[in-house]
Parts: sequence; C-alpha cells; structure tokens
Amino acid sequence: MSKGRDFKLNFSMKLKVPRGINSLVLSLITVVLVLTLPGLAAQVRVNPSAPELGDTLSVVLESVTSGTQPTVTWKGKTYPMFAIGPNRMRVLLPTTPLDQPGTQSLQVNDGTQVQNLTVQLRDRDFPTQSIWLPPDKEELNGTDYEFDRVDAFKALVTPEKYWKGPFLRPNAGEITTIYGVRRYYNGDFAEDYYHRGVDYAGGMGSPVVAPAAGRVALVGRESQGFEIHGNTIGIDHGQGVASILIHLSRIDVKEGDFVQAGQVIGAVGSSGASTGPHLHWGLYVQGQSVDPVPWRSATID
Ligand SMILES: [Zn+2]
Repeated sequence: MSKGRDFKLNFSMKLKVPRGINSLVLSLITVVLVLTLPGLAAQVRVNPSAPELGDTLSVVLESVTSGTQPTVTWKGKTYPMFAIGPNRMRVLLPTTPLDQPGTQSLQVNDGTQVQNLTVQLRDRDFPTQSIWLPPDKEELNGTDYEFDRVDAFKALVTPEKYWKGPFLRPNAGEITTIYGVRRYYNGDFAEDYYHRGVDYAGGMGSPVVAPAAGRVALVGRESQGFEIHGNTIGIDHGQGVASILIHLSRIDVKEGDFVQAGQVIGAVGSSGASTGPHLHWGLYVQGQSVDPVPWRSATID
C-alpha cells in the first residue's frame, strides 16, 4: 500500500468521528508538532530513571550531529561524551555517598544547543562502622609518590571503550565490606570518608581476576612506596571507567598490558595498610568511586 492511499484512508476515517474527538485529535497533533519542531536538538536519555547515591548515571544522546563534540556538565564539571554507536554518544557520571540527595541539574551541550535537565538523586542508607584508635597508635600516612600515581591513574579518560557486558567479581572470597560504608573515628563522624570499593575475604594467594577488559595503566609496589595501597593494579576500562585492586601479594601484569575479563592478574595479599588478607576493589567513574554492584548486572554496557 502506497503512502498516498494510507493518507486518504486516514483522512476519510477522520471525517466520520464525532466533532469533539476530532478537535481533540487536532489539538493532540498540534502538541506533538510543538514538541518536535524545535527538536532539532539531539535526544537525551538518562539512566537509571530513579538513581540513588553511589549509582553511575548514563547520559545517552541520540541523533548526534556528526562532527560535533557534545559535552555534559554535572556537579560543576564538564565531561566529553564518547561514541557508543552510529550517531549515539554517551557519558557516564559518578554519584557518591557524599553527594546531596534531591534535585540535581545536568546541562547537555549536544553540539548545537544546550539542554537543561534535572535528575532526582535518591538518598540511601549506608551502614556505619565505629573505629576506636588508641591515641598512641602509629598511623601510616602514605607517600606522595603513591598518591600522585594513583591520582594520575584516576584522572585518565580514554575515548576507547574496552569493556563489554557485565563486570565480574575479581575474587571468589565472600564480601566482607560493601561499598559506601561510613565511619566514626573515636566517636566523630568522618565527613569525607566512605568505603571506596568492595572488600573480598579471599585467602592469601587466592587468584585476583580482571573484573572487565582494559589496559593496565598502573602497577604500584609496596617496596617502591605504595605504603597505604600496598601492591596495586589499576585497569583503565576506557571512557572514564577504571578499576583499582589493592593489598595484593603478587602482581602478574605490567603497565601497558591489555587484559581480558576473568584473566588472572595477581593474588590476594595483605600489603599496605591492611590488617589481614583481603582484596579491595574500587571502581572509579570520572575519578570518583561508585558502587560496582550495578556494574555486575547487565545494566551498564
Ligand atoms: Zn576496602
């Protein structure tokens, strides 16, 4: 059936419907036109629709004008979007337990115009721990060397996307501390502290696997000044997503290596500021620690 015949059919049907419904149909058409005509702007989708603190926001732009470099501004910082398909671009944005829940604004510059959006960030109850330190307890401060190297690693933004599908658990041990746990030290709430990762109680020497594919962009050793982190592997998964695996007893990779999801990269240890063998896995998006749990299901790819 040709388009012309289709149109005629619809037109004659419209003549038969009662006058009230007819004008309703006309006004609906008007509304649709008003909404779509200025819509030369690319279409924006934000997921999840009801995010809570610790979630990763995915902002996807459809029908991107070729040759433009869209950006998104979030919490005062502007991030480039990356291609994830033909005329489709995306940026992943972090939320953390330190964020203010409630209405947050988001500006999307699609390359031709700016769209303002709001996101409702839901509050989340994170567990708390009380730590009592004796006054004479000797604390490790960490070294400038390790913090500089870890900061540089977290700041990496690589346009390529190396991971595919859901992330894997990096160790078979049971989870002993979840993401986001808050702390009281000697009775005082630590405003800036939250557990920036997930702890697995894997035995000493048990395998640590890459949670997703990527490029090894950081190898740090306790013997070279990684006093707090201990033996460390950082994997750049691309597009602002990175994993850090710390307190290792053994490192099987070197900087520049490409690793696959599930590949053994080292072993659980207790190096650095650790009181017993365990693996700490931190997942970073745009340099901020997010909850890895949603990444373990297929929701973000
Ligand atoms: Zn930890």
